[in-house]
This record gives sequence, C-alpha cells and structure tokens, in this order.
Amino acid sequence: MAGTGESRAAFLLPKDRVNDLIDLLWARGFRVVGPVVRNGAVVIDEVRAVQDLPVGRRDDQEAGVYRLQEAGGDLLFGVVNGPGSLKGIFYLPREPLIEMRRERGGFAVREVAEETQPVAALGVRPCDLAALEIQDRVFIGGRFRDTHYERRRQGLLSIVVNCTRAAPTCFCSSMGTGPAAPAGCDLALTELDGRLLVDVGSAAGEELVGTLALEVAPPADVAAARSEVDACATSMARAVDRSDLPGLLFDEVESPQWDDVARRCLSCGNCTMVCPTCFCHAVVEVPALDNASSQRVRQWDSCFSYEFAHIAGKNFRPRIRDRYRQWLTHKLASWIDQFGTSGCVGCGRCISWCPVGIDLTAEVAAIRARRGGTPS
Ligand code: SF4
Ligand code: SF4
Repeated sequence: MAGTGESRAAFLLPKDRVNDLIDLLWARGFRVVGPVVRNGAVVIDEVRAVQDLPVGRRDDQEAGVYRLQEAGGDLLFGVVNGPGSLKGIFYLPREPLIEMRRERGGFAVREVAEETQPVAALGVRPCDLAALEIQDRVFIGGRFRDTHYERRRQGLLSIVVNCTRAAPTCFCSSMGTGPAAPAGCDLALTELDGRLLVDVGSAAGEELVGTLALEVAPPADVAAARSEVDACATSMARAVDRSDLPGLLFDEVESPQWDDVARRCLSCGNCTMVCPTCFCHAVVEVPALDNASSQRVRQWDSCFSYEFAHIAGKNFRPRIRDRYRQWLTHKLASWIDQFGTSGCVGCGRCISWCPVGIDLTAEVAAIRARRGGTPS
C-alpha cells in the first residue's frame, strides 16, 4: 500500500528536487495539477513549478471559517484543503456537451469533444482520491458512461500527500478515507523537514522514482513519517458515528432536527459546490444570437436551489427542511444503496464553507441524540 509502504521500500525526495519531478511529469505529457492559491483560497489548478504550490502557507478552518496564514518555512503542503478539489478537473463546472447547427432541410448535431491530456494530480489529499473514486462510480461505473468525464479521467497519475495535520473540520478517520493514502495511488508523499518521504504504489510510480534516481529512505525517516500520519489520525476533533447511519436517517425523516437546521440554513448551495462528491447538474440550451446554432451545456447545480425540484409544474421539495434532509440523507444513506459507498469522505469542506457554520457532524449527532423523539 502506497500509504504505508509496507510492501515496498520508501524513498526520499529532497524539496529542492520537487521541480525535477514536476518537469519530468510535464515532459512525459501529463498536465500537472495540484494545490495553488487563487483569491485567498487553495484550489486545484495547473502546477508548472514548485513556486506555484502554497509554499509556507497553512489554513485556519472552523465552521464557517477559512483563512490562509503565512506559516513561513519550506512547507509545500501545509494547507490541508480548500474549496477546490479534483472534481473541478474531471467534471467541469460548465461545459458544452453538444452543438446543433441549422442546415438546409434540417439540422446537424455534433458532440463537443475537446482534446484532453492525461492528468498528474500532485499533492492532493487521500480523502480527495476517495472522492474521485466515488465520482467514478457515478459517471463511469454504470451501464451509461459519461464520455466527457471519462476522456479527462483516463491516464490519471496520482501523487497523494499523506496528511500530517488535520484541519479542525476534518473527519476522514471516522469515514475510513484518510489520513493515509489509499492503496492504488501511484506515489504517496509525506512531508518532513527539507524532504518528502515517497512511498511507491504502482509500476508507474516506481518508474518515476527510478528515473529521478531517488535514494532509499533511512528507517528513522520512515518511522517519523508513519508516526506523524498516525498522530494525525487520532488528532481529529470531529467524527461521524457511522453505526446504523442509514437506518437512523431513514427512521428519522420527521426528526425535529430538520426544522432546527432549516432555521439556520440559507439554502445557498455552498456545501454542494465545494463537496468533492456532489454531482448534481442542470442541462441548459444556449442558442446563438444568429438563430442558426445552439449549444447544450451542462453546469453544476445544487439540490439546495429552489428550482432543482420543480418538475411538471410542482416543486416536491419546497421547504429548506426538505432540501437539507434530502442532501444529508442522500450523502450518508441512500448513496450507499445507489453506489455502494457513502457519499461523504469527511473532507470537512461543507463545514468550513457554510456561511452560517452548519456542521454535518453536529447535525448527525443531534439527530441521533433526538432519536425516537428524545430531545437533545
Ligand atoms: S459532505 Fe461535506 S465533509 Fe462530506 S465529502 Fe462533502 S464536503 Fe466533504
Ligand atoms: S448548509 Fe450551509 S452551505 Fe449548505 S445550503 Fe445551508 S447555509 Fe448553504
């Protein structure tokens, strides 16, 4: 497993050689993406050199709070996460699917298929890789495959960073998605002073390590890296009790907690936009002004928007209570029936980016505490 390096030797990548890795990936034809700062927050975008990473930064997160701080030093991956994730790389916020053009006697339809380049995801978190696997089940795991997503997703090289610090909003330990990289990622990095421990998880990862001629890590570095990740796992302040969680949520459809949260929720949809697994979208027709052509465009949508449940002249989720209940119950319960996995990886983004600080972990705990009508 790349996250623990139990079956293969681990290596050292000095931080002053990270640019060698980035250059090698671009030279191999990958589009390298990773954490970069945009407008005061970390998103996932192209990384051309180590200076594009949030060097020397840390994140300060709490319910309804996200700030980047200058931590100084040579930290490359000190920011746990931000509003962006791999979702925006493979499932674009807005993209044309087909174009229609008027022609003599009718019209022609053409699928819009942009040129794609294999992606190397550098410095993404274990929970984000888990989220990508969930999106894979949604878009390409069934009988009907989304060709747009599939084209971008093909050939992914994953270079994951094990977490050695959890944000106060993280709860991946309780969801089983972190803080150590999962089996199957190509390389897993653990940040130490001046160097990165590199665990190899695939033949592609092994080939990169060989090309860079990395030295085998001394046992003391391996032990230090493992112990930091273990400490991170036990440090998380938040957790979701997953015992009989679907049963709890299906039983408690009339819990007074839904009214309680509805009094706080603005139904803004921020939680769904930042969530790395949410996939709801709208498909809209965009006609050209010349009246000769139009595009069919897919764009992210949210189950929190009022119009989302407006079908055939009737809105079947008119109240915020209904929409929050739908979101939470889908994430943590019916998603399992649909896709065989929870829809939540415990990244905590929905907690930080909720403008009124609604905390999924606290709502689940409150529903459990009130189970059967017992007030919390
Ligand atoms: S529901 Fe919240 S914590 Fe769970 S994956 Fe989505 S954003 Fe992350
Ligand atoms: S829970 Fe928070 S982020 Fe989500 S819709 Fe309500 S107010 Fe917006």
